[in-house]
Amino acid sequence: MHITSDIHLHSNLSACAKPESTPAALLKACRDQGIRTIGFSDHLWDKAVPGASKWYQPQDVDHVLSIKKALASDECQELSRGLKILVGCETEFLGGKQVGISRDAASLFDFVLIPPDHFHMKNYVFPADVTDPDGIKTIMIRRFMEIMALDLATAVVHPFHAMGFTPEMPYTVQSRISDNEYCECFIAAKQARCAIELNGCAARRDETHGSGDDQFSPEYIRMMTIARECGCTFSIGSDAHSPESIIGGVHKRLERFADACGITDILQL
Ligand SMILES: [Zn+2]
Ligand SMILES: [Zn+2]
Repeated sequence: MHITSDIHLHSNLSACAKPESTPAALLKACRDQGIRTIGFSDHLWDKAVPGASKWYQPQDVDHVLSIKKALASDECQELSRGLKILVGCETEFLGGKQVGISRDAASLFDFVLIPPDHFHMKNYVFPADVTDPDGIKTIMIRRFMEIMALDLATAVVHPFHAMGFTPEMPYTVQSRISDNEYCECFIAAKQARCAIELNGCAARRDETHGSGDDQFSPEYIRMMTIARECGCTFSIGSDAHSPESIIGGVHKRLERFADACGITDILQL
């Protein structure tokens, strides 16, 4: 499959992105890789919603939308010629109905990405005392289904990737999710018209499952193949926090990953 879109890019408005991750540098890097639809998605917690962590507080709606000023510059306008440029956001999800964006604010963005699994944010997104794979799995599946019930996400990003534990933990947790459990989740996503993200980190070579560049985790291939069989649509997200990862070929790896899962149905925005 030929990938021509990427709607998960962090500019340096995101506190965790590299300073060199300017909108212009990201535009140039994506353009050079043949990406034609480019969606910025900086981290966001809307001030209208109580509960921002200290880290999220400065990353509010005005902050994230200020990228539009940069995109209006002569340099960005020149780099954007012939491309479709979108301004979205990656908000936060704390479980239940606690999502970091109001419906009013969501309408200001071209798309809204919701992560079910920023579990590295202990005692905020995730209870610090849950460290066993089955406990993590139970919360993971519940969060995914709760996001679908919100009916707010354009795409659910890096699904079922347990962050904040050992490097093997995402795969260990995934290995405990049955085909039927995945099916239930992905059918809910299809019904909610929420795309499933093919994430740049997920397509990263998995050290625990072979060393070739085309070796992807069998657990990721199983997950995404089931999502395809359930009729889901997919979004593409490099999740780049610097231009280097784009120049490094993340989109080509994502193409090989999509091919390994038989995926062709990519969300068009
Ligand atoms: Zn994320
Ligand atoms: Zn991200």
